[in-house]
Amino acid sequence: MTTLIDTTRLKAGDVSIEKTALERYVAPEKPSLVGLSRAALAEALGAIGVEQSQQKMRVQQLLHWLYVRGATDFEQMTSVSKKLRGTLAEHYTLARPEIVAEQVSVDGTRKWLLRLPGEHPGELPHEVECVYIPETDRGTLCVSSQVGCTLNCSFCHTGTQRLVRNLTPTEIVGQVMIARDRLGEWQSKPGSPENPRLISNVVMMGMGEPLYNFEAVRDAIQVIADGDGLGISKRRITLSTSGVVPMIERAGTEIGSMLAVSLHAVRDELRNELVPSNSKYPIGKLPEPCRNYPCVSNARRITFEYVMLKGVNDSAADAKALVRLLSGIPAKINLIPFNPWPGTKYECSDWDQIEKFSEIVFNAGYASPVRTPRGRDILAACGQLKSATEKLSARERLALRAMAMTD
Ligand code: SAH
Ligand code: SF4
Repeated sequence: MTTLIDTTRLKAGDVSIEKTALERYVAPEKPSLVGLSRAALAEALGAIGVEQSQQKMRVQQLLHWLYVRGATDFEQMTSVSKKLRGTLAEHYTLARPEIVAEQVSVDGTRKWLLRLPGEHPGELPHEVECVYIPETDRGTLCVSSQVGCTLNCSFCHTGTQRLVRNLTPTEIVGQVMIARDRLGEWQSKPGSPENPRLISNVVMMGMGEPLYNFEAVRDAIQVIADGDGLGISKRRITLSTSGVVPMIERAGTEIGSMLAVSLHAVRDELRNELVPSNSKYPIGKLPEPCRNYPCVSNARRITFEYVMLKGVNDSAADAKALVRLLSGIPAKINLIPFNPWPGTKYECSDWDQIEKFSEIVFNAGYASPVRTPRGRDILAACGQLKSATEKLSARERLALRAMAMTD
């Protein structure tokens, strides 16, 4: 049973969209223009016969309708000739990923479960999550870059997921489009004052390791940041990495967003356990690419994320070692209360321990905001997302696959 209610009537705790996991999924037949770079849009126009001399102007029109007005149908594009609208619709769509479920937390956090086609015909559809966190001075959208993650950090729910595939730029930008659709954040009439920015910040902190899907993440961020695209400045976009050292320099030059590094431990022995990729990229290798990250300064600091795990990494000695490790790097330290998930062996540090830790960091001259846990009732913390497909039994998966194949 699918229900879809008017988003403006949503109350905390509502589940406004709910589809059963086994509801028949039909993969889109035509490619979507969402998330394509300017060059790729021009190419898509060229492929349907738009002359080169016209392409730049047409790309500008498409950008406006897609990203300022949020068009979902080519027929809405009234500044584009009727004939071209028809040709576009014959070959392309403006589709976003399909929403399977939308949940609203008591604190206003919203979580969307999105369904994406499998990589090959007949394959199970994939699911990823995307979370919106409203705060008084900003609204942050936490976006996924992969289905699952290959890195298996021991405290992260996503890392326990077996299915992994990279998202395309269409699917990454599509998450921002869906959030804007559901929050009603499009400019409805030409010339009308822009709605207040509900989504002011984007963080690549959902499922997946963004630097293991480099090109797609780079191209998607260019569209999100483009002044004629979604128009969210790169200073308000943060890419979070578990510390893929050789890719950090490239991220700085080719993406140029803000950078967050998931540190979580100050000793290699412990970090090997929490973030297993540490055995390949140990702690000692992290400071240099961070120091050299373009434009890094006291005004543009690198964020270091540190999840607070009771009795594991939360001692005063750890806090002091953390401060020593980061000395000389313009840094912010984000202390993240661990968000528990069913089956985890970890617990969140006690509040007074988090406070003690935070005080040591603060006294060393670092801002150390403790990220308030958000959306706990809907298990919505960034980085601990796991899709529903993954929870299907083997029999259900087979049934789903069989259904897709008999279509
Ligand atoms: N793979 C990237 C980005 C996604 S994870 C990375 O690791 O940085 C985003 C953040 O959420 C990371 O800092 C991650 O360590 C953190 N995280 C993962 N699981 C968590 C949990 N259960 N509770 C709190 N934070 C978590
Ligand atoms: Fe992957 Fe990040 Fe989770 Fe580690 S914390 S498993 S890198 S998503």
